[in-house]
Amino acid sequence: ALAFNPHVAALPPYNAGMNIAVARSISGRADIARLASNENPDGCSPAVLAALSSPALEPWRYADPACTALRAALGRKLDVAPDTIVVGNGSEEMIAAVSRAMLVPGSRVATVVPSFGLHEIEPLAQGAEVVKVPMTADLAFDLDALERSIAAGPRIVFLSSPWNPVGPALDRSSLERLIAAVRPGTLFVLDEAYFEFADATCPDGLKILRESGVAFVVLRTFSKAYGLAGLRVGYAVCCNAELARVITAAKTPFNVNAAAQAAAIAALGDEAWMLASVERLRGERQRVAITLQGLGFTVAPSQTNFLFFDCGGDSASLAAVLLRQGIIVKAWREKGYERYLRVTIGTAAENDHFMSALGQVTRR
Ligand code: PMP
Repeated sequence: ALAFNPHVAALPPYNAGMNIAVARSISGRADIARLASNENPDGCSPAVLAALSSPALEPWRYADPACTALRAALGRKLDVAPDTIVVGNGSEEMIAAVSRAMLVPGSRVATVVPSFGLHEIEPLAQGAEVVKVPMTADLAFDLDALERSIAAGPRIVFLSSPWNPVGPALDRSSLERLIAAVRPGTLFVLDEAYFEFADATCPDGLKILRESGVAFVVLRTFSKAYGLAGLRVGYAVCCNAELARVITAAKTPFNVNAAAQAAAIAALGDEAWMLASVERLRGERQRVAITLQGLGFTVAPSQTNFLFFDCGGDSASLAAVLLRQGIIVKAWREKGYERYLRVTIGTAAENDHFMSALGQVTRR
């Protein structure tokens, strides 16, 4: 028998969205509303498509392993030194690299439940122990419990804000309170994958962390608001160049391909496209939330491009009913949260289809 790394062999599977071909065969429909993976239904900027078909791509060459041009563009945008930025094959890869850089078997990690799967899976792959703070009954961060969990001195704290899968973001005073609980030796990882969808009232976590003096990583991605999920580009902004150096050592060398680097640079050059898309999706988010509430569901407040709600029974059964109508949603499977469904905000037509299908189910 093969002797596997026991930490890896014992990992729970990552619950990725349903395959579209399977959804077509189950529903008998060609037009599938893919509302499970928090992608951008508007697509991406035309500038990205132009960059992808440019002869400058040279697919036969290895891409720049340091992502020099992209890090320079990000450094200008964020007003940080490029040598504190590490670009990944999606921010997923940065979650893995941070875990590899920081954790040894037996290390402790603090996070929340429900949570983004990889905030648990990647630490477990390193043999770490993951302590999870549940959300409150009214679908919010449990600040008292989180503060205690952070003050206990884990090697890493993983928090997404805005929070996947629930939706709310930490406000300034809550974030400052949690940062104040960080002890020397703890790395505070703030995953801002949904940063662009948040209201102006939400704090800029990067700015607050830079002023705080704690060790931090802020994660952001091109997969959501910029619409580049299939190209895989995300990045880590680190508190200093030394941390960025160790995270770089923990990733594979040629992790971000040429198309992805060119696309991300083009996307940064057309922020207007992204802002218009975010504006539209926010309006749709409000429309869907109001309809769900009208159907009697309790919906968590959302600063993201998805909604999380208690569907009143096993969410997997509801997801199966919706799938037969050509709608893919995500039934939450973490223990204690099996009544919750997460639905991504789609195009207006997709959202209409989702709401009318859900309306039919609840009237039955
Ligand atoms: N962090 C959070 C909170 C996410 O929701 C996701 C994607 N669902 C990611 C990270 C990973 O995104 P990507 O690898 O596409 O950048």
